[in-house]
Amino acid sequence: MAKKSESSRVSTDIRYDKDGKQVSYLRVPNSRDNSGWGTLLMPIAVIKNGKGPTVLFTGGNHGDEYEGPVALLKLIRALEAKAIKGRVIVIPGLNFPALMAGTRLSPIDGRNMNRAFPGERAGTITQVIAHYVQTQILPMVDAAYDLHSGGYSMFMTPSVMIHYLPNKKQMAATVEAMKAFRAPVGLVIEELDTEGMLDTAVENMGKVFVGAELGGGAVLTPETIAITEAGIRNVLIHFGMAKGKPETAPWRGRRESLVMETPDIGCFSMAMDDGLYEPFLELRDTVAEGQKLGQIHYPQAPERTPLVVRAGTSGVLYCRRAPGRIEKGDTLAVLAKPSKTW
Ligand SMILES: [Zn+2]
Repeated sequence: MAKKSESSRVSTDIRYDKDGKQVSYLRVPNSRDNSGWGTLLMPIAVIKNGKGPTVLFTGGNHGDEYEGPVALLKLIRALEAKAIKGRVIVIPGLNFPALMAGTRLSPIDGRNMNRAFPGERAGTITQVIAHYVQTQILPMVDAAYDLHSGGYSMFMTPSVMIHYLPNKKQMAATVEAMKAFRAPVGLVIEELDTEGMLDTAVENMGKVFVGAELGGGAVLTPETIAITEAGIRNVLIHFGMAKGKPETAPWRGRRESLVMETPDIGCFSMAMDDGLYEPFLELRDTVAEGQKLGQIHYPQAPERTPLVVRAGTSGVLYCRRAPGRIEKGDTLAVLAKPSKTW
């Protein structure tokens, strides 16, 4: 019998305190034209064995990012309770309607899950899901790993990402949790727009939050999936929940985990015009300040000279625009620099 909660409109038959493996659903009210008493059934798994830390893994926060959902579906099938100490909570599709539609935002209410926290009990479906996670799941969690990717619009160096935190103890634990994943890059970043993010919700509770950007272009690759799966195993070993030796999965012929930062605004290059973007560089290429990153062509004016996009600083190409068609204001490239601090 699904338990009705006073504090959330989402119900579930999952018992978070029960040992063993449970695979079931969060039942989210979804009354609509063709289903008056309809419910969105959102998969969730809880795998628990006795006392120990609780780690939350989420994928599909944006619906066009596939490494997280695929690796987490594999984890749900493979991980048995007896293989761990503590509790693993897995939500492979946090914005489940978006995941099923292959879109970044929810097709039901048009909302971005990662701008919906702390959510609203009586809000739209994205807000209701966020509110359940905020009020019912996050209080149980010691660490949360939210597995993103570049989605349709960006290619990212497979990486895990954390923010600068004022609390030194929380920052130290978060840096270790980032390094533990052993992604090709660990990025310490200051984001300009953090309002409503799951990241912020977890960080504000004083807990460990690690985001991941595991690939991009709304495509999966064997390498990015392998990096994601190794990272999840490494995290369970890091928290003393599973036995084994951490492994660094290869990416483009190298096994390395660099810590990097994006220290100045010159790291971010955006399109200053509409058009077709021709990139000159690949991810991980080294870039000098002023170097040409690419150029914007004008398809309606063949005689017009393309607009050259130059690097605002030196660094390594961490992220680049995926689709060729661009609009003014799109992010075209992000450069990162090796960290001297972390
Ligand atoms: Zn995302």
